[in-house]
Amino acid sequence: MAVRIPVSYPAWSGPCNVRLPQEALAYRVRQNPPLTTLEYLGGFNITAWLYLDKGGHQHVIVNPNVRIADLIRQFGPADTPDAEVGFHSEFIAAEWFRTQRDVAGVLQIFSERIPCRERCGPFLKRCYPGVPWYYYYDRMTIPEKPATVLKRVYNL
Ligand SMILES: [Zn+2]
Repeated sequence: MAVRIPVSYPAWSGPCNVRLPQEALAYRVRQNPPLTTLEYLGGFNITAWLYLDKGGHQHVIVNPNVRIADLIRQFGPADTPDAEVGFHSEFIAAEWFRTQRDVAGVLQIFSERIPCRERCGPFLKRCYPGVPWYYYYDRMTIPEKPATVLKRVYNL
């Protein structure tokens, strides 16, 4: 699938493995319904991590976030409004890695939106120091909506 090259952080990091954005897009396309409408492009952030197993092979693992609306449907409203943030995809990915035995190292972290400053960013810097990030959308520097940016970079 044709995708644009994401932004690197730090800027001098090596190029993003193209499989990461490709597999994030493929994940969106194969859902039922596909997560390719503006609503779903805006409501979901897909993350794809490149890692090395202990046999020296590279793999990509893809994770979406859990949306607030879906959590409320499943568990009821949160006790406090603060808790209604949903589970961010990077946090879900990190939780998957925490339970794996065959992972030798994480090489690259792609997330459609830059990991959030509040929680995922500091968390990833602490748990995966030196692992470069790649992203398409950063609310601090890009004035458009995330859905509009994703529609363009994914050629949807
Ligand atoms: Zn986050």
